[in-house]
Amino acid sequence: MSILANDFKALWRDIADDALSAVRRVGESGWYVLGEEVRTFEAELAAFHGVEHAVGVASGLDAIEIGLRAAGIGDGSVVLTTPLTAFATALAILRAGATPRFVDTDEQGLLDLEAVQRILAAGERVDAIVPVHLYGQVVDVPRLETLAGTYGFAILEDAAQAIGARLGDRPVGATTLGAATSFYPTKNLGALGDGGALLTNDAAIAESARQLRDYGQRAKYEHVVPGLNSRLDELHAAVLRSAMLPRLGAALERRGAIANAYLDGIDHREIRLPEPAAPSTWHLFPVFAPDADRRDALQQHLREAGIQTGVHYPILASAQQAVPAPEPGTTYPVAQRLAETELSLPIHPYLPNDQVAAVIAACNAW
Ligand SMILES: *Cc1c(COP(=O)(O)O)cnc(C)c1O
Repeated sequence: MSILANDFKALWRDIADDALSAVRRVGESGWYVLGEEVRTFEAELAAFHGVEHAVGVASGLDAIEIGLRAAGIGDGSVVLTTPLTAFATALAILRAGATPRFVDTDEQGLLDLEAVQRILAAGERVDAIVPVHLYGQVVDVPRLETLAGTYGFAILEDAAQAIGARLGDRPVGATTLGAATSFYPTKNLGALGDGGALLTNDAAIAESARQLRDYGQRAKYEHVVPGLNSRLDELHAAVLRSAMLPRLGAALERRGAIANAYLDGIDHREIRLPEPAAPSTWHLFPVFAPDADRRDALQQHLREAGIQTGVHYPILASAQQAVPAPEPGTTYPVAQRLAETELSLPIHPYLPNDQVAAVIAACNAW
């Protein structure tokens, strides 16, 4: 492959000096867990995103579980979410002790809010909703909040793919319980390993999340809830803070420029382009083929042109063995069709213009 979906070697060439001096700083400090690096990174991340609190944890999966548990969602709770997502969304709901209830998506791949409204209006139990800002596209959370006002449920946003995303001038997670994000290396703010954070304006949620990530301690040796060991390491925090976060603004701009080039340049009657209703942070650039066979043919055509692509996601979370089997006859027709027809084109900050042009030319020549 000559055009990569992600180019981590180019990333390292760019950040090596900053990352190595961050590592040296941590090593020399003699303090490796929950210290000054995590505190400073949390403050800088919260400021970048535009919320009061960021709580660093071990992964995006944990950030969702901890956010739900901090809000009292657990045994017996029912949590609505989308089946078209990274499996971690559903797994976090299960790990919190709750039951995931899947709802179909719209044509962009986001939770279908009409369908959500029908479930609520039918009087079914819903304790929380986890909307996923899939591909970096933003779910209409204000509309969900209006429903929450009528029916009473908590909202925790899965912003693993949407750090820095806004709806109007409002950062995601700012008015709900919060937004969970991930520092998995491919994400828009990736670490050199695993990490995540809960972003929130709710001081009580932040406080509870800080306890849950650290054995449920309120103070040293005082365990008030059965928590986790889900601490963000000083090393990861230092690298994120000194090497990654300072580049995030420019990286998001570059993703936007590549997306605009694809939107302007790709023109093929069998390729449907994404149409985000609100500005996307373009973690992924999804295109949609007419059917599964044509999607596979497009992927093969691009592979032959040296272009690496991905599928997000080939199997719905609702169809995974690890979740309880749905009622017989339950289907998610739109999400299922997107799972069969979606293809993610390369979009990362180190993708040069000639490669963007080559992807467009290869698509149009299909
Ligand atoms: C990556 C991702 C997660 C999980 O994050 P990890 O840090 O890998 O645990 C959850 N939800 C979505 C939508 C993701 O893309």
